[in-house]
Amino acid sequence: MAERIDLTFLGTGSAIPTARRNHPAMLLKYKAENILIDCGEGTQRQFRKAGLNPCKVTRILISHWHGDHVFGLPGILQTLILNGYNQRLEIYGPRGTKGWVRKYFDLVGRGIENLDVVVKEIGDEIVFDCDEYFVESKKLEHGCPSVGYSFIVREKMRLDREKLKKLKIPNSPLVGKLAKGESVEIDGKKIDGKKLLYKEAGRKVSFVMDTRFCENAVALAKGSDLLVCEATYSKEESKELFEKRAHLSSVEAASIAKKAKVKGLALVHLSQRYEAIPKVILEEAKEVFENVIIPEDLDGIEF
Ligand SMILES: [Zn+2]
Ligand SMILES: [Zn+2]
Repeated sequence: MAERIDLTFLGTGSAIPTARRNHPAMLLKYKAENILIDCGEGTQRQFRKAGLNPCKVTRILISHWHGDHVFGLPGILQTLILNGYNQRLEIYGPRGTKGWVRKYFDLVGRGIENLDVVVKEIGDEIVFDCDEYFVESKKLEHGCPSVGYSFIVREKMRLDREKLKKLKIPNSPLVGKLAKGESVEIDGKKIDGKKLLYKEAGRKVSFVMDTRFCENAVALAKGSDLLVCEATYSKEESKELFEKRAHLSSVEAASIAKKAKVKGLALVHLSQRYEAIPKVILEEAKEVFENVIIPEDLDGIEF
């Protein structure tokens, strides 16, 4: 069985929170990794509401430093200090992130020196690579340094336990060799490990937060199982608004999904003006890309 990716939408709103939607934040869990993507104000409370523990966070990926995506950072950092967080915390973000992190550390003040934090500024690159999985980033266009992220689990050859059972192969170090596709001899019989392996498909989830439509967003999302994408406004809003705010419309987000040939699309970062009518955004997007949802705060997806 493949290890699950668990994604929780901690906040699905945008600049101004509403009764239903907090500021942007998502938690991606995979094995021991707990990766927080953006950290809007009140995110640690959202963790608690979702039954999740902010002290398990291993890495924080910041899309950009607009307040709605980062005002929750000092609070989470203080909680980590109070709870004796004792692992290394890695924070990634676009150009300028080191300066911003220093400012936020100053805000937190006492105890921040006890946290073991590594900060890395990234652009178009592999953010980190743990062999089995990695994170990639690409620069987006939002009037300030801004990046999107993809979390990718690589395709893998796995040992078919059912076939092992049928061949009555006992548990021993030889099984480890079979798992590597090597041939071994058991009770005088030669067994070819390669014949006991099967291919487990890779998986990819991409996060395109604040940006105007750009080819980098399409390139980043290419072939994703799930694209989480901002869709701040309806396509009916004025051209001036899109130019001024550098955000995506429902239809632009859907066309990124279509061009990138993703399997599913989740739209987030909805403006407060659609609080009562998120369907407007959904219906517009559906005209371009069928498999689309608008998650609510604390909704989860696993795959
Ligand atoms: Zn935003
Ligand atoms: Zn922004």
